[in-house]
Amino acid sequence: MLRAGIVGLPNVGKSTLFNALVANAKAQAANFPFCTIEPNVGVVAVPDERLEVLAKISNSEQIIPTRIEFVDIAGLVKGASQGEGLGNQFLANIREVDAIVHVVRCFEDDDIIHVSGSVDPVRDIEVINLELALADLSQVERRIDRARKQARGNKEAQVEVEALEKLLAALNQGQSARNIDLTEEEAESVRSLGLLTAKPVIYATNVTEDDLAAGNAWVEQVREVAVQEQAQVVVVSAQVESELVELSDAERADFLSALGVEEGGLRSLIRATYDLLGLRTYLTTGPKETRAWTITAGMKAPQAAGVIHSDFERGFIRAETVAYQDLVTAGSMGAAKEKGWVRSEGKEYIVQEGDVLLFRTNV
Ligand code: GDP
Repeated sequence: MLRAGIVGLPNVGKSTLFNALVANAKAQAANFPFCTIEPNVGVVAVPDERLEVLAKISNSEQIIPTRIEFVDIAGLVKGASQGEGLGNQFLANIREVDAIVHVVRCFEDDDIIHVSGSVDPVRDIEVINLELALADLSQVERRIDRARKQARGNKEAQVEVEALEKLLAALNQGQSARNIDLTEEEAESVRSLGLLTAKPVIYATNVTEDDLAAGNAWVEQVREVAVQEQAQVVVVSAQVESELVELSDAERADFLSALGVEEGGLRSLIRATYDLLGLRTYLTTGPKETRAWTITAGMKAPQAAGVIHSDFERGFIRAETVAYQDLVTAGSMGAAKEKGWVRSEGKEYIVQEGDVLLFRTNV
């Protein structure tokens, strides 16, 4: 399962946001399977309105969304790369995630102490990013000595040295590894380093309820930073989310419309994390269940079948496939077949976003 790590300075609202994510998943547990693995790890359903539409068409007993894991990585402070706070242990936790959700404080509240004394998201982002870049720098420095020794007459190691030199120069200038142009070969040669600044980032700007609809000047500043860094921005109110969890559906709708928004930002945060990872979804549907499955872009039908079960990949024969929108337009699988919209695809078929699939296997 994919993992997203929540990072940020202390007191910016990370735990509030994480708890809202988990409580929200728990509240939906009647419909969606969900679990908490550890206190700081929660499994969250990825919202997808197509599932309900398909479940109606197929009269499914159950809806099973695809899921993503969120990890609350507390304790990142200034000096972490030098071992301050809980330092390196936390940096190691970040190394294991696929994407980073960086929470930044964009709300004023005199009762809640800011570690640097004032609200300034751009400065806060720089503090955290500097720690991540320093951790990467020491990682690259350690590796480059070894790679240089191995490089004589070894083509693979030479590629690695070239990649590491590019990274070294850029990190020394305070750039993120994410923004550096590496060839595919070079990128592959350094992938195992798990560089922190190479991971995709979403800035979750935590605002007060009054700023949820229109944002504020701090959010705009974060947007400017994000454009330069090829990162994304989601506006969210951790406080509002933690209150929404307690409410019934009708109360939620009233509360949100009083704030001038359709949602509190949690859904878009989950969705944005999923999209950021370049993931695609295919769907299966029938009387038992309608379900979303996660694949990566470019995956062929047998591998996509393997996501359901490895036997399906080995025993793959064909995939019956219809595009989601065609199925909805037709109104039923039978009608879609009559119109000739259900195709039979073989081993080389590249599964598309929103394909509704039925696998024929010899299992
Ligand atoms: P963390 O250290 O980043 O995990 O921060 P917490 O989630 O523990 O939040 C620190 C404090 O800020 C808590 O007292 C929260 O109730 C409060 N807080 C979090 N989000 C908001 C917000 O959007 N508005 C306001 N006013 N307070 C918030």
